[in-house]
Amino acid sequence: MIQLDITTLQVGTMCILVASSVAAPLIMGSRISTAARFGQGTVIAQTLGWASILVSGLFMQRWFATLGMALVSAGLVCQWHALRGWMGARPGQSLMHALAVLTPLGYAIAFPSYALRVGWANVLIGSQMLLLCLALAWPSPQTSRRWRTLLGLCMAALAVVTLWRGVLGAFYTEAYPYFGAPHPVNLAGALIHSLAVPLGTLALLVAWREEAERELNQLASTDSLTGLLNRRAFAEGTREAMAATERHPQAMALLLIDLDSFKRINDEHGHVRGDQALKLVAEVLQAQRRGGDLVARHGGEEFCVLLRHAGAEEGRAFDARLRTALRQAALNQLGFALNSSSGLAVWRAVPTNLEDWLQQADQAMYQAKAEGRGQIRVL
Ligand code: GH3
Ligand code: MG
Ligand code: MG
Repeated sequence: MIQLDITTLQVGTMCILVASSVAAPLIMGSRISTAARFGQGTVIAQTLGWASILVSGLFMQRWFATLGMALVSAGLVCQWHALRGWMGARPGQSLMHALAVLTPLGYAIAFPSYALRVGWANVLIGSQMLLLCLALAWPSPQTSRRWRTLLGLCMAALAVVTLWRGVLGAFYTEAYPYFGAPHPVNLAGALIHSLAVPLGTLALLVAWREEAERELNQLASTDSLTGLLNRRAFAEGTREAMAATERHPQAMALLLIDLDSFKRINDEHGHVRGDQALKLVAEVLQAQRRGGDLVARHGGEEFCVLLRHAGAEEGRAFDARLRTALRQAALNQLGFALNSSSGLAVWRAVPTNLEDWLQQADQAMYQAKAEGRGQIRVL
């Protein structure tokens, strides 16, 4: 018959923790995000925490056990910050920090009373685990539900046994009189912990991989100089918008902007200033765009904007606003003027495809150039 005893389970879990603490930094490398670093911190703090708790059974019990509580609690704070980094703002940050301070503090003060210190530490750490469940359940459209569910289940199971152990220690001390007591809840706790450590680490690794994937997608769709969409991502977004008009017809317009005499600007002010000018155009475009509009660097000193809910009139108005803002910003920040010529093509559903639509905007833009630059032409 299989004998499950708490010490064996704890030693097994400890081995997995030590191995994960060493392996995680080795496989993840050093060039990682703050969130991923917090993820590693979670594993390392847990390992040191549980090592301290196990050592406290041998000598200097009060100090090592308190240190253990502080580290386990800090590991949960690290996990909360990792989630925040990957998922965006979560509720309960101050409470999380307060619990991490109060857990070891109360434990050290209450040390002479077994019931008080065990009740205190387990209830507070269990509450931190519940806060992590809340953070995982809180909406986060950019992260996948799979690793969140896995980590959430681990945390929820750990929270239940930890809180339960706190209640046992505080109010039913005779049933749970010491750390390794073979009470069913304690045994279940050790078993759940031995499962939650590898599964939780796995979930953190998947979260990190997802972050890397998101960054790659971002890199593949943006222009490195200006941070605007690149040509490919613009085409993708615009095609989606074109397809959507089949179900919900709406006015749209395509604005193509080409900076005037930019070669001369490079020649007169240098390539670096030329790059600064392109970045400034991007900033002004971002500031002027409305929600839903797509703004891209179409190449070189050419930009394009998909204007939604806009016809010829709105397109002209947008271009006029842009021109004024750009003139102001260029004189203020670059010390020379920036002018541009634009072509606007309004959306006609049939039989336009994106290439034809861009061609129309391009034709209008060249007309603006040919007729003296610094103006817009509409097709
Ligand atoms: P116009 O459009 O008014 O006819 O004249 P232009 O001088 O702007 O036209 P042209 O298309 O001949 O030249 C575009 C210039 O833009 C040439 C190129 O050196 C410059 N350019 C393109 N990409 C970049 C870039 O990333 N940085 C800088 N500094 N210059 C760039
Ligand atoms: Mg050009
Ligand atoms: Mg130009």
